[in-house]
Amino acid sequence: MDTIVYRLGAHCDIEDVEEGKIYEAKVQGFAKFGTFVLFNDRVKGLVHKSNSKKSHEERDTILVRVLNIRSNGNIDLEEVTPPVYTTQMVVKKTPMVRLSDLATRVGRTVTIDGEVAQIKQTSGPTIFTIVDETGTENAAAFIEAGVRAYPDVQLGDLVEVVGEVMMRNNQVQIEVASMTVLVGEEADRVRQRLEEALEVRAEPEDIPFLVESEVLENLKPELRKIAKIIRKSVFTAQPIILRHHADADGICASVAVEQAVVALIRESGADFDSESYLFKRAPSKAPFYEIEDVTRDLDYALKDHVRFGQKLPLILMMDNGSTEEDEPSYRMAKVYGLPIVVVDHHHPDASVDQYLMAHVNPYHAGGDFGITAGMLGTELARLIHPPVEPLIRHLPAVAAVGDRSEAPERHRYLDLVSDDYDEAYLKNIALSLDYEQFWLRFNDGREIVKDILNLKNNPERHRNLVALLTMEANRAIEEQLSASMPHVQEQVLENGARLFVLDVEMYAHRFTFPPPGKTSGEVHDRLCTANAQDAVVTLGLGPDFAVIRSRGVLMNIPQMVRELRDEITGGGVNGGGHLVVGSIKFVEGMRDVVFKRLIEKIGAFPVESTR
Ligand code: MN
Repeated sequence: MDTIVYRLGAHCDIEDVEEGKIYEAKVQGFAKFGTFVLFNDRVKGLVHKSNSKKSHEERDTILVRVLNIRSNGNIDLEEVTPPVYTTQMVVKKTPMVRLSDLATRVGRTVTIDGEVAQIKQTSGPTIFTIVDETGTENAAAFIEAGVRAYPDVQLGDLVEVVGEVMMRNNQVQIEVASMTVLVGEEADRVRQRLEEALEVRAEPEDIPFLVESEVLENLKPELRKIAKIIRKSVFTAQPIILRHHADADGICASVAVEQAVVALIRESGADFDSESYLFKRAPSKAPFYEIEDVTRDLDYALKDHVRFGQKLPLILMMDNGSTEEDEPSYRMAKVYGLPIVVVDHHHPDASVDQYLMAHVNPYHAGGDFGITAGMLGTELARLIHPPVEPLIRHLPAVAAVGDRSEAPERHRYLDLVSDDYDEAYLKNIALSLDYEQFWLRFNDGREIVKDILNLKNNPERHRNLVALLTMEANRAIEEQLSASMPHVQEQVLENGARLFVLDVEMYAHRFTFPPPGKTSGEVHDRLCTANAQDAVVTLGLGPDFAVIRSRGVLMNIPQMVRELRDEITGGGVNGGGHLVVGSIKFVEGMRDVVFKRLIEKIGAFPVESTR
């Protein structure tokens, strides 16, 4: 029978060494009394010079028999030179555990496997974020302060990790003893196991909507699809960037999803600061994805990818994203392969869908803008993480009044929360959001916004804040309108609608609240009240833009924009929005030409018989 020579695995220790057996060892150094050898990084023994057979150099591999393991841990060895032998690996037997069970194994050595979802080099160890079918945890590997451990392990690799389970800052973490990249069949087997489990785990629960709605029922498959995409991103530690329109409706939609996603990230076990890099909510000033926005998003995502070893993000658009104005930015994102999903209630252009993984829009399902983004976002949030519901169930009502929904769903969502919030108060919350977002500009104002929406379990501070912001916003609106209203010009259009024009550049305060769109809306509201029997169109006219508000005219703003762009050479016309509420941009020198044609077009739309 052949002699067996054992080779000690990387994470074995002295308990795995047996007296009488022969091991492969590496010469580490020399002393007067003999030669020190290493079985692996952790186990060391001594060949007394009387037991040496040959002379060696450092790092030579030699074979040694274990004579004695002393109680102090010293191992006495003799060198052997068997003429024929076979080698066997000694593998530390550690239990294979799933990440969600690590918390019950603190202090023990375990084996885990999974996908490397992030590699972050700290000033100390290298932190590998590992994802399996049950959760997300960090594994810390250390060779030298600030030096990348296991440099051949890459983002997306499947690895087997052996190490001791520790608690660091109240978080479970594995101290890596060894990490092996899985290849070939073994990798395929683990990848398949993870993918199959992810499909099941990411599937949203089958729960009914908060209110009855045929349109929502029609949208359910697509909403579930987006919920599943988002859940997959969370479970695989893919960052999410949520871009939303910076108004009350867009804020409600995105905050509902934010609450669900952040709770799900925490539940799936990622470390506490991860929610800030795994989820980012970013308001967009324009009602579409501007090149400036996508450039900023790409800039950060690509830097984080390089510096922190993060995956490229999923882009989620809310109350934004359905129109062809978004397409230049989508093309930009496509170059980098970023997946995009949209939840919007603006009138959609079919051409955007070639860029999107999924697209929820009530116009696809027999509805219109009356199904607000806040309604869609809250229902989506419940599909992403159902326990979030009690926190966010009033957000659709805030969104409904904020966006002036006239859909039947408006009243259902308002009834749902009428014990706690009456309609007037919901309007105050919506106004407070608009007012505060104006001053927040591009910032998400996460904590302030949560206070305004009463999400922080501090109802007194919420009420005080909403009372103050409502008062300030109303004061600013009064101030603006007292200057503006006397300058509103009236004419009657061909279709009988009353047109009111306010030059917001000349007769409104600039760079303060309310901005031109809101100013025009407030003017419009007053004129609608004063002309209750008539179709009313209000134009807020700037040097190179016009804001349109209307009631009772069956117009189509996106269509008018397309026609003006085609008909007026050198007008530089673009813009859009909802069918009857929107804005148009043009070059300043063509203002009079565009304005004249715009009025002709508005005057040609049929008027609803409201009398
Ligand atoms: Mn909206």
